[in-house]
Amino acid sequence: MLNIETNRVQRAIEVNLQKEAYFLVWLANSLQNKGEISESTWRRSTIGISSSFPFFAGVYWLDLEHTPQWSAPDNFTPYPENADWNISPSVPLNTIPVLSKLSTSNIQPGVNGKLTIEMLHPVSFDSRVSGYLGASYNIKLMLEAISQEFLRPEQHLILSSDSSTFFGQLPEEHGALINSVDINALNGQWQLTIWQRSSSDQAYFSLPMLIFISGIVVTVLVAMSLYLLEVNIIGRRAESNMVSKLKEEITQRREAEDQLKFTANHDPQTHLPNRFAMEQYLERNLRSDQEMVLMCIALDKFQEVNDMYGHLVADQLLFEAAKRFKTVLPPHAILARITNDHFMIACAGTSQLEAEMQANQLRMCFEEEFYIEDNDILTTCAIGIAYRYDNQLRAEDMLRHADTAANKAKALGNRKVVAYNQTMQEQLNQKKDLERAIRQAINNDELKLHFQPQVDLRTRQIVGVEALVRWESQNGAAISTDIIIKTAEETGLMQRLGHWVVDTALKEFSRMLDERCAPKCIAINVSGHEFQDGYLADYVIRSVNRYDIPASRVQIELTEQVFIENLERNQHILNRLTASGISLAIDDFGTGYSSLAYLKHFPVNTVKIDRGFIKDLPQSKDDLVICQAVVSMANLLQLKVVAEGVETIDQQELLRNIGCNFAQGHYYYPPMSSDALMVVLKEQRAGRLYPAS
Ligand code: C2E
Ligand code: CA
Ligand code: CA
Repeated sequence: MLNIETNRVQRAIEVNLQKEAYFLVWLANSLQNKGEISESTWRRSTIGISSSFPFFAGVYWLDLEHTPQWSAPDNFTPYPENADWNISPSVPLNTIPVLSKLSTSNIQPGVNGKLTIEMLHPVSFDSRVSGYLGASYNIKLMLEAISQEFLRPEQHLILSSDSSTFFGQLPEEHGALINSVDINALNGQWQLTIWQRSSSDQAYFSLPMLIFISGIVVTVLVAMSLYLLEVNIIGRRAESNMVSKLKEEITQRREAEDQLKFTANHDPQTHLPNRFAMEQYLERNLRSDQEMVLMCIALDKFQEVNDMYGHLVADQLLFEAAKRFKTVLPPHAILARITNDHFMIACAGTSQLEAEMQANQLRMCFEEEFYIEDNDILTTCAIGIAYRYDNQLRAEDMLRHADTAANKAKALGNRKVVAYNQTMQEQLNQKKDLERAIRQAINNDELKLHFQPQVDLRTRQIVGVEALVRWESQNGAAISTDIIIKTAEETGLMQRLGHWVVDTALKEFSRMLDERCAPKCIAINVSGHEFQDGYLADYVIRSVNRYDIPASRVQIELTEQVFIENLERNQHILNRLTASGISLAIDDFGTGYSSLAYLKHFPVNTVKIDRGFIKDLPQSKDDLVICQAVVSMANLLQLKVVAEGVETIDQQELLRNIGCNFAQGHYYYPPMSSDALMVVLKEQRAGRLYPAS
């Protein structure tokens, strides 16, 4: 008798719960798509919740500690009202499998006789959960509304579970009509009971009256059925719209996730696996005992290709190179692009002999030019091989070994294929130790400054001194100055070192001035790296003033590179220095651009011929021609020429013959401490010259 009502109510409850749950999932996903969440975006998204979905008592935002941050509508406070409300374990939540991340609680009594179901959905940004969208679903209100809509006044609704009755109650007297069904919605399994007193079914009317009333009832019922049917159809349509919208969103999300996964594991230019993917692959495969070979291919001069032909051509070159590699690799090899110009190839189960053969084949991939966008590009590569010589080796070790071997191959230049061995690691460790020691030396002021005299070949007088850094390591070994400077540059200490050199050199020079033995000029080296410091000129000028040294007696030595690079900016600094009276020398002339033509554009007054052109004199005719050209051009431009590294009398004579007037080198004086220099300078003042020839 009560079947129809019971089924209608059952369906209404299930549909309502399902619909609202979908809505919460949809709302959480649309929040997630906003990229990040602030209180205002959250409020904007949840506005109107009570008008469109009246059975939601309210929605709230929980932070990662499950503390409510915001709630809507205004009159709603997450239950109970105290601030450290915690959804778990006070309300156990279960995730609904079909809605993936949505969790719902059982029906639970709330304040003011409310009956609620809590729903909670995580919201993630950048794959990390950043909070939860929660909702309190007022199931009592829903049951009242459904009762009113689907039941007659004498019919009553009871909702219960095995352990308790949530809504309504059974009649006390016997003989009532009762019908029960199960309700399975969200995570709940409840019982719906509809009952009605039997007396309400008794006939009070005569037959014609009954027929008349029945007629009216049937008509009303048909009209109502049609109406309900329509409502049902509209409801279903809305429901199916929402489901298809959700499905569409899920597909889009899956596509975005796939895309993200691809991006995280692949190199954007070549679409090959990246370093991360290679590391993962190695980690997986190193778990077994099989042999593993990792080769690292370092392209030579890739940056030059980039600069010369542009990014598009360079990218295409990588792509074409990868294509060639694939033609010589076995199908199970994994090819990845690790950095800008480094590829790696992992071959499981490959012997050392096979690996070396493969490496040579890979090397030969570059013997033929690449033809890209009308450009013939010929490049070479260096290959490093790492073997799994120890089962304890981890993925990162193999990657490092292959990389080290490739760098070694690159440095060797000629062999091009180098297998990793333990010595390389030891060399690297030594280098690291040295770097650490030099860093300490700079930090602890253990460095010294030596001075090498420059001599006027016509008078044999010391006319200048060049300040040169020296450091003796704790075990007494002298460390090459080039290495000290390079390390300082690489470890970010060059600016400090440079300031120390300027300061110490000028302090010592001022001591020489005080002792009345100072030469005409002190030359201080400044590297290109130091020159990038915009305050360098100010620092030098300030120090010159501090020690009260005439600026005209200070010279800064810079390599050709500094003059050429960063033209506009550097020229400004150079002009600042020369405007203050400090002179400039071009150091190591001939090793860089070697263009004499640009000399006239810069405010230089000295050119120092690099030692490389002096050391083979007088035998090397080529070097002689170069020296002659530099000297005559410099004389034409009225520049002073200093020959560096003069070690023999023959070299001196030759230089003098071609018109070079100044020299510096071991033939005259090696670099020496300031005290030793002062002794020499004082001897010079007393008229004793060295060497005597
Ligand atoms: P450089 O400026 O070309 O300095 C001349 C180098 O040649 C010095 O090497 C000097 O000891 C060496 N030398 C001089 N005469 C002879 C010779 O007759 N025979 C030989 N074989 N060598 C000679 P050092 O002191 O090792 O310095 C190397 C480089 O380190 C310098 O080359 C310079 O570029 C850099 N350097 C030295 N001190 C400083 C500094 O205080 N600041 C900066 N930025 N660089 C410095
Ligand atoms: Ca120099
Ligand atoms: Ca030099």
